[in-house]
Amino acid sequence: MTDTVNPMAGRFSGQTALITGGGRGIGQEVALRLAAEGARLTIFDMNLEGAEETCARVKNAGGDARAWKVDVTSRDAVASAVKSAAAQFGGIDVLVNNAGIGWRIPFLDITDADWSKIIGTNLTSCFIVGQEVARVMVTKKHGRIVNVASINAHIGTDHQAAYAASKGGIVALTRVMAFELAPLGICVNAVSPGPIETALSAMNLTPVTRRAREERIPQGRLGKPGELAAAIAFLASPDASYINGTVLVVDGGLVSGGIREPKVPG
Ligand code: NDP
Repeated sequence: MTDTVNPMAGRFSGQTALITGGGRGIGQEVALRLAAEGARLTIFDMNLEGAEETCARVKNAGGDARAWKVDVTSRDAVASAVKSAAAQFGGIDVLVNNAGIGWRIPFLDITDADWSKIIGTNLTSCFIVGQEVARVMVTKKHGRIVNVASINAHIGTDHQAAYAASKGGIVALTRVMAFELAPLGICVNAVSPGPIETALSAMNLTPVTRRAREERIPQGRLGKPGELAAAIAFLASPDASYINGTVLVVDGGLVSGGIREPKVPG
């Protein structure tokens, strides 16, 4: 992604976007993409150093961005930071609920603490941040929210019960938010990424599991953060003005693919 920002042009010109988990990986790429299209940015992340690095890149390119150290599972921290961010930038037009965690655990070994941490960080955060930001958006009867789910919401993968449940919950939450908030001028959609090249996927994939995934993906490779950022930017933009309550799967064809017939020798 280029760091060239033109705040005077683009689909998000004059808009403010809040991105959770914007300090690295997919969230950072989304931040740079929205800034390149003219958005002012607010980034919430536990990883303040990463969030500040994202902001520095945006500012160096002529944009406007502010980082906040916020745990998106904390109602009080989120409420206070959303209030300050909205006051600073005169509202919030776009929210990307991206912060997330996950690690592989066999179902029989998942502890209550694992379950609560993963559900809390991935799903409850979308409720908390989504509710606080929607309360700001309704004052202008305008807003677009994109929740980051996963293909694990749509297909079963072993050792991912808590993660899959959190992402399935995000898809269900997205539909209800879209239904209830549309009359108030707010559209809510989700993206379900397949494996994307980030620190999270590097942690979860061994060379063997990576190869297995690549073989199952019709396009034959993992996605790049910029490819996902482009899909999120579309759903957050006026180009998606009549799209509401949908889930855009960005996975190189993985979920829609079936069983590949083995090559017959000769
Ligand atoms: P990364 O781990 O690279 O980045 C996630 C960011 O979120 C980090 O900066 C992390 O901070 C921050 N974060 C974690 N917990 C909290 C919290 N409680 N409050 C605030 N910030 C927090 O993840 P990815 O970029 O890979 O993934 C982004 C999203 O995309 C996630 O929701 C993930 O589930 C989803 N996704 C990713 C896929 C992939 O292949 N990468 C595939 C499908 C979905 P810190 O560094 O301190 O942990």
